[in-house]
Amino acid sequence: MPLRVAPTDQERHPDPMTDEEKLWHGDTTCNFCRTNTPAVFVDGKTKMGVWAAMCGSCHKRKGVGLGNGRGQKYQRKGKAPEFRYVKVEADR
Ligand SMILES: [Zn+2]
Repeated sequence: MPLRVAPTDQERHPDPMTDEEKLWHGDTTCNFCRTNTPAVFVDGKTKMGVWAAMCGSCHKRKGVGLGNGRGQKYQRKGKAPEFRYVKVEADR
């Protein structure tokens, strides 16, 4: 399973974001169920303590929440195959 280590401090505390920087440019394939263009994509920490790319439903089961140090949520926009993933505010 291609899991990642925790992000660096620089990734956790980005400079004020431009629109371009709100977009996720990486792979959106869920590390758990392999869905590759989920409606909601989360780059976040899991209950196992490692970070992973997750679809919304896997994040509900395996993630530890959203926000600094926990996870960032992206919403799918646009039409196939030109999906864009735009960062959305963490749920409070
Ligand atoms: Zn999934």
